[in-house]
Amino acid sequence: MTHRILILGAGYAGALAAGALARRLHPSGVEITLVNAVPHFVERIRLHQLAVGQTLAQRPLRDMFAKTDVNVVIDRVTSLEVDAHQVTLEAGGALGYDSLIISLGSTQAPPALEVEGDTVRSVASHSEALRLRDSLSALDPGRSVVVVGAGLTGLEAVTEIAESRPDLDVSLLTGDAIGANLSAKGARHVRAVLSRLGVTVHERTRAGRITPDALMTEDGRSLPADLVVWTTGFVTNPLAAASSLATSEDGRIVVDRTMRSVSHPAVRAVGDAAWALGHGEKPLRMCCASGNALAWQAAEGVVADVSGGRAPSVPRAYVAQCISLGRRDGLLQIVRPDDTPRELVLTGRLAARNKEFVCKGAAFGVANPTFRIPVPSRGPARVTV
Ligand SMILES: Cc1cc2nc3c(=O)[nH]c(=O)nc-3n(C[C@H](O)[C@H](O)[C@H](O)COP(=O)(O)OP(=O)(O)OC[C@H]3O[C@@H](n4cnc5c(N)ncnc54)[C@H](O)[C@@H]3O)c2cc1C
Repeated sequence: MTHRILILGAGYAGALAAGALARRLHPSGVEITLVNAVPHFVERIRLHQLAVGQTLAQRPLRDMFAKTDVNVVIDRVTSLEVDAHQVTLEAGGALGYDSLIISLGSTQAPPALEVEGDTVRSVASHSEALRLRDSLSALDPGRSVVVVGAGLTGLEAVTEIAESRPDLDVSLLTGDAIGANLSAKGARHVRAVLSRLGVTVHERTRAGRITPDALMTEDGRSLPADLVVWTTGFVTNPLAAASSLATSEDGRIVVDRTMRSVSHPAVRAVGDAAWALGHGEKPLRMCCASGNALAWQAAEGVVADVSGGRAPSVPRAYVAQCISLGRRDGLLQIVRPDDTPRELVLTGRLAARNKEFVCKGAAFGVANPTFRIPVPSRGPARVTV
């Protein structure tokens, strides 16, 4: 009997898992289906670049998987009926499965404060980045943009905007200090770049209200804001929390070491959809650095399920955070396995080049599912079910 493997979401994690399964399983005994809401792969880690008008490579999913046995279905999943082993699709109909991998990613958490007008944008999804691009290009010189949040996404967004639009009045607002999660050296470098790019920094300041032309801080100040770019963290796709799957407080699917759902053994979750423990039993954060290696872990778990073997265990240690600071600068922050920073950084053009290499490498791995290189995640021989 054919074993039906269904993968939901073709972002970094889902597309990598689908590619790994296609490489590892002989098509005679399995059917692999990959469902995605949009027809192309979204290079999310470059969306701040798209937002300032740079052109990103187009990668249609059907072309990416043309040389594999993966069936690509372009449709939106509307519910997960995991007790019945099926999912429903927006266009109508349902897909059944024997093994399910959920990799539906995340989006921007909306501001939890009063918002008047339509000035809030984000860089968390393709459509939001395009909206931000249109709004930025409509701004006349001298207009003001406030980026809220100085995590990795906020830093990448604010530096990209300030570098590409030196005619705008760009500021960064953060509830913490700049570089709160970086080493002292890393934070110093980020401050120097923000200063060079003319970004006004408001640290330890919280947004209280957004009006059509200002951001009011909780401590009563009014900052001019023709546009607000909200970057204060991602929220995972809500379908899992609406299902009977066991989820964490923030709606991610709770998985074990093999990325298997703790409540539904036929289900695995990867990427921003999964709540998994990393080094030192700390939950992994939503990022490619966590998701990509564990996509392979999930795929190998499915291979083990269908072939009766044992899944290998992928190390869950962080190595570095790679941050772009505009196109000509960056920060490579070396971290401990639990993601805390070491006093070891690379900065400037070399760090920018390193980030570019990381982005290209991640996209290449996703877009070339048949490419075999001699590392465990790409290379092991095919299994016949
Ligand atoms: C601007 C920006 C910069 C970033 N930089 C970095 C970085 O430098 N390093 C890093 O590690 N992380 C970075 N991240 C985070 C990283 O992009 C995410 O952690 C990563 O994309 C998560 O991968 P994923 O496959 O889980 O989800 P996603 O990449 O979000 O993919 C989810 C997929 O599911 C599809 N989907 C969603 N809902 C449905 C539905 N209902 N039905 C069907 N399909 C659906 C989507 O279309 C998408 O293709 C950045 C994020 C942003 C926004």
